[in-house]
Amino acid sequence: MDSVNLYIVVPCYNEEAVLPETSSRMLELIKQMRSDGLVNEKSRIVFVDDGSKDRTWEIIDSLTREHTEIAGIKLACNAGHQNALFGGLMTVKDDCDCAISIDADLQDDINVIPEMVRKFIGGCDVVYGVRNKRDTDTFFKRTTAQGFYRLMQLMGVKMIYNHADYRLMSARAISALSQFPERNLFLRGMVPLTGFKSDCVYYDRSERFAGESKYPLKKMLSFAFDGITSFSVSPIRMISALGAIVCVIAVIMGIYTIYEKLAGNTDAGWASLMMSIWFIGGVQLLSLGLIGEYIGKIYKESKRRPRYIIEAYVNTPESGEMEDQYV
Ligand code: UDP
Ligand code: MG
Repeated sequence: MDSVNLYIVVPCYNEEAVLPETSSRMLELIKQMRSDGLVNEKSRIVFVDDGSKDRTWEIIDSLTREHTEIAGIKLACNAGHQNALFGGLMTVKDDCDCAISIDADLQDDINVIPEMVRKFIGGCDVVYGVRNKRDTDTFFKRTTAQGFYRLMQLMGVKMIYNHADYRLMSARAISALSQFPERNLFLRGMVPLTGFKSDCVYYDRSERFAGESKYPLKKMLSFAFDGITSFSVSPIRMISALGAIVCVIAVIMGIYTIYEKLAGNTDAGWASLMMSIWFIGGVQLLSLGLIGEYIGKIYKESKRRPRYIIEAYVNTPESGEMEDQYV
């Protein structure tokens, strides 16, 4: 393959403190990769301003005038990290061979980018950046984040452990992603669903070198909650399971209540109350779970996700078309 047309997509929200440094480090890297023959002249760094309230856009704007390698996209208002990133990827998908998404604060090591590109050249459509260790994160962030990955796994969501949104995607993987019309984006759960050949590169996560995290606890929790509810119907199943358990308890309690009643150990009214509380409780939970199953179906249908994603055509009417694009 000739050298690659690479786009690096960087969402930025109030990042005036980090942009000058980030842009100069990325420029240096892209020039280096160009002279190594890894990426071509058309490769770009695309900063997506996610409706920042500070001077972020002015900085991006002036960078684009100084350097042809830098491009900018300005969102009209703050749409959130995932939406900004998605918007950036959708904008570049028809021009690039592959695109890498990375945060503006350079907590993720940009020196593994050449390795990602090499894996792309070697035939991977998705290359995940995976954090080796997280000792630069606070104890709180580390434990909550790792707990979250475990919980997602438990709920049956296919996700790469310790991978956030630092990844390379080929143009066709981004095209596949564009077929997911859902509004609640959780990209790190969606990308594995595209199913293309993938690999990982490992790096140590460093500290944010300037500015503050744009993900305060509240945003983090709502993001985690979004992740679970956008990808899993396990919580609904749990209600059904609980209902079944309560029904079993109701039967046991029923036997116990009748026994106590016959033994004459009960006050008037106790037996009927006990029977109805457990029985009705179980029936209600089971019914809720059953209704939940239907809601789960509606929710899956309403996402309108693609039923399948085609990787290659051979000897079909479409294969000529595909050859130009992908092979
Ligand atoms: N970000 C964004 N829109 C938002 C919040 C964050 O585009 O509403 C960007 C932010 O500029 C950064 C990335 O998302 O490039 C990750 O944010 P941050 O580094 O603050 O998150 P953390 O690393 O603390 O989880
Ligand atoms: Mg960060």
